[in-house]
Amino acid sequence: MTDHGGVTPARETPDRRVDVVVIGAGQAGLSAGYHLRRRGFDPINRAGERARSFVILDAEDGPGGAWRHRWESLTMSTVNGIFELPGQAVPNVDRTAPSRDVLPPYFADYEDRFQLHVRRPVRVRSVRRSAPGRDGPGPDRLVVVTDRDGAPHRPDLVTDLDDPSPETWAARYVINATGTWTRPFWPYYPGHETFRGRQLHVHDYVAADEFAGQRVVIVGAGISATQLLEEISRVTDTLWVTRREVEWETDPAPENFSAAIDKVAERTARGLPPQSVISVTGNYRAPWIERADERGVLVRHPMFTRIEPDGVRMPDGRLEPADVILWATGFRPAVAHLAPLGLRTPEGGIRVSDGRALDEPRLFLIGYGPSQSTVGANRAGRDAVRAIVADL
Ligand code: FAD
Repeated sequence: MTDHGGVTPARETPDRRVDVVVIGAGQAGLSAGYHLRRRGFDPINRAGERARSFVILDAEDGPGGAWRHRWESLTMSTVNGIFELPGQAVPNVDRTAPSRDVLPPYFADYEDRFQLHVRRPVRVRSVRRSAPGRDGPGPDRLVVVTDRDGAPHRPDLVTDLDDPSPETWAARYVINATGTWTRPFWPYYPGHETFRGRQLHVHDYVAADEFAGQRVVIVGAGISATQLLEEISRVTDTLWVTRREVEWETDPAPENFSAAIDKVAERTARGLPPQSVISVTGNYRAPWIERADERGVLVRHPMFTRIEPDGVRMPDGRLEPADVILWATGFRPAVAHLAPLGLRTPEGGIRVSDGRALDEPRLFLIGYGPSQSTVGANRAGRDAVRAIVADL
């Protein structure tokens, strides 16, 4: 296996030159695309010889980013608040409809309206610095290697290549907007493999009904944990465990929120693993939390010390029986493809300030750290494009 997704370097010569490659077409990537269009960049297949060009590469089969995959009960009224994509309002929708049904068509309309020509499904396997000689003239590009054959996928996209090698791009700038959904975080606890029941991460959660009659241990202190606690406890017995006491945010004032974002931004600039903004603000007492409290199920227990075949061992030595352990333990940034750039700090983050990698200024990470929200993704897309325009 090579650094480049198992593909031999000899077949990775960049075949497409472009000013900006955007990786990912969720909220952050589409915001970047919108601002690129506004600043006079053209999608690669429309760009003339001299025009500034960009391409958006996305691993999904269709529009919507991670919203394509959220569980059914995450409706437009239970999401945390979705900020519309720049320049196009979310249509009036049934607030009880699942977000995964409402948002992908909205994203699809958006891509069409602003003619963003997202290329999909294209997964980026690696990003590296170009090597003079091997990649043609100039050491000034970032080489983006994908899992796609060089042959065009759609006839209306680039058609001048019939090279069967992996599709690669040589970019002046890369805007990474790959989100977190593809990297569910699942901490290890001793005895993990001995459990006779079922363990799953919220990434794979479908609906509460599948747990009826089973005892479910829900792990995690964030919004997903409390939301799923509320709905699963309606159909079966639950036990909620968290590592720390949960801090309830009683005053969701904007200044508290921006102070939290500043704290995440400061961590991210130091190269610490970025925290989600919500993990810093504490938990807002959303309506579902009040409902769970009223029914007496919002009872937090300390984290178990080990997993055993029939349950979890609590710090006081008791065995709590369990049929299911549901890990609502968050997600991590999906940035493995950036590994060849060698940006990872010993602490496990990438040093990023104002959306730009401090150790590789041709790389932007948006929807990362402080911009990991719909509103943050919008702004980060705009700011990355502004910075690129200023550079060029
Ligand atoms: P995504 O929507 O995840 O898009 C990333 C895209 O990149 C995907 O299409 C993915 O397939 C693609 N991709 C990944 N890796 C590659 C690769 N190597 N090559 C090519 N493409 C790749 N935020 C809010 O503001 N409000 C909410 O209500 C809210 N609810 C949330 C609920 C849940 C359960 C979760 C997990 C998060 C929630 N968030 C919410 C945070 C949310 O993740 C962001 O707000 C925003 O939607 C993320 O947009 P994004 O573009 O950064 O990522």
